[in-house]
Amino acid sequence: MENENNKKENGGPKKLNFNSYWIYGIIILVLIAIQMITAMSIQTKDISQSQFEKIAIAGDVKKVVVVNKSIANIYLTEDAVDSGRYPDIAEGKFSELHPHYKYEIGEISYFYDRVQSLKDKNNVNLDIRADTQTNWYAPLIGWILPFVLLIGLWLFIMKRMSGGGGGPGGQIFNIGKSKATLFDNTNAKVNVTFADVAGLDEAKEEVMEVVDFLKNPKKYTSLGGKIPKGVLLVGLPGTGKTLLAKAVAGEAAVPFFSISGSDFVEMFVGVGASRVRDLFKQAREKAPCIVFIDEIDAIGRARGKGAVQGGNDERENTLNQLLVEMDGFSTDKGVILMAATNRPDILDGALLRPGRFDRQIGIDRPDLQGREAIFKVHLKNIKTGPDMEADTLAEMTPGFAGAEIANVCNEAALIAARRNKKAVDMDDFNYALDRVIGGLEKKNKLISPSEKKIIAYHEAGHAICGWFLEHASPLVKVTIVPRGVGTLGYAQYLPKEEYITRTEALLDRMCMTMGGRAAERIVFDKISTGAQSDLDQVTKMAYSMIAVYGMNEKVGNVSFHGMSQDQFNKPYSDDTATIIDQEVRLMIDNEYLRAQKLLSEKREELNALANALLENEVLLKSDVERLIGKRPYGEPSRMELKAQAKVNAEAENNKES
Ligand code: ADP
Ligand code: ZN
Repeated sequence: MENENNKKENGGPKKLNFNSYWIYGIIILVLIAIQMITAMSIQTKDISQSQFEKIAIAGDVKKVVVVNKSIANIYLTEDAVDSGRYPDIAEGKFSELHPHYKYEIGEISYFYDRVQSLKDKNNVNLDIRADTQTNWYAPLIGWILPFVLLIGLWLFIMKRMSGGGGGPGGQIFNIGKSKATLFDNTNAKVNVTFADVAGLDEAKEEVMEVVDFLKNPKKYTSLGGKIPKGVLLVGLPGTGKTLLAKAVAGEAAVPFFSISGSDFVEMFVGVGASRVRDLFKQAREKAPCIVFIDEIDAIGRARGKGAVQGGNDERENTLNQLLVEMDGFSTDKGVILMAATNRPDILDGALLRPGRFDRQIGIDRPDLQGREAIFKVHLKNIKTGPDMEADTLAEMTPGFAGAEIANVCNEAALIAARRNKKAVDMDDFNYALDRVIGGLEKKNKLISPSEKKIIAYHEAGHAICGWFLEHASPLVKVTIVPRGVGTLGYAQYLPKEEYITRTEALLDRMCMTMGGRAAERIVFDKISTGAQSDLDQVTKMAYSMIAVYGMNEKVGNVSFHGMSQDQFNKPYSDDTATIIDQEVRLMIDNEYLRAQKLLSEKREELNALANALLENEVLLKSDVERLIGKRPYGEPSRMELKAQAKVNAEAENNKES
């Protein structure tokens, strides 16, 4: 998107903008208005020829004006109007300008013949005149309107073709201009600071140097030091890369250009390169400033690899131009390039060379503390009740990235608003979490009772296995409310925050994942398609345990991770391939049997959970404890310790009073 500001500075030709549409609109409106006014004011009554002749014989006709040889306009004498013989005519309303009656003449010569014979027979004197009239606006509508429509259509198509979402930047004249959004003090100001970025302490420290440089460049250049031209932020989507780059601009109080790598890509040849050129031109004018390119992999993919020859010329040109521009400016100009990607491995080597994106900052998904900090930032913006605590929420959201946390907070606020609450409470957050994890609730999805029973036993099977396996993650809740696409129910667990996982834990997880199908087998002696995603997961886990983590005795301590693996190009022999396949099958079968054995032993508990699920649809950990007793393993979570402390304190209070 181009913004007003850039346009003025480029001093380019003045372009048609939305105001011209207003002019077209006004012209059309005026035309319509004229048409309507004229149509309304001529209320002349239609009569037939014989009626006309009667009036003529009575001697009440003052004159007849034949317009365009097709319409006879009849004007009555004043006496006739006053006499009241013609009640359908409003008195005095008609002037010389408007006839009282009119009728359509068929054949003009026939009309004159009739009139002549009328005159002769009845000896009346008729004043007949001919007139030609044209509508002055008719040519306007006939000629100009189509042009207006055509021009409008053309502009519309041009806008669509160049892919501009809005504003003048999308027009054909601007196709080679960069679509970067500029934030500076003249329009949208960057008011993001490091305080808005929670966690990411190491990353912040790294970029602090950039901020310092932008604030007082002399300090660095006088010593001959070189500041990196480009900083590459590497991390999964939603981990706050854009936010961090913005915060750098906000802290340094410099303009911030933001553009996505895919914005350079266009169907016309040469456009990408020209957009890169334009972006850097703008940036140099605004220096010192920060240019942020999101998803740089869209243009920065390694050149000439895998692609069909010639197929990707346009992208390569764009990348080349980017490299040229990066070499072309020296850092003391004060333009710093920041880019984000989650695939640094596919970037072209030339981009990562010194003098280009030579500094890489990895941004991980936040850990427990990070999530707590991010929740604190986002809870500040919403009105919460007294029971909301960021650390509890952080515990409930393992694996969430910053964007998802922001989403949960927003979702909870919306839900609370829908329920007409004064403040957002824990219940709203629970609901929001369900929604973010599982997708929208499908209240009206029709599920037959027998299907529901299968789903309930399937989910209960997962839950029971998790409950009685020592190394499985503790359960948070089980539900059989259908959600999103194809989700009929799920069990949510609280994974431990750990960086290495032991074999036992992986095997227990596999056993738990097979628990769904095992329960179906034991209870109904049949299996269903409902376990497809479970099997998917288990298969992937088994392959990675054996072929990546070296956790199988027969295959041994080898890892084939990241090696190209296609039909013709395996990093291992056919024998090894056979062993891997066998071992994967063996491992999955074992866990399936283990799950069946466990569930047969705990058949009563399984029934209890499944029935409770059928009744309530959702079971929390506390419900499960009530039904089948406490879990024999696992230390209580922080959340539980806190709840326990609260209960203790209350008991203490009660004792005292
Ligand atoms: P990315 O660019 O990595 O895809 P963004 O920077 O666009 O992610 O993050 C999206 C949103 O997520 C941000 O606008 C912010 O609301 C939230 N967010 C992500 N990480 C953090 C964080 N560390 N602190 C606070 N908010 C965050
Ligand atoms: Zn399942």
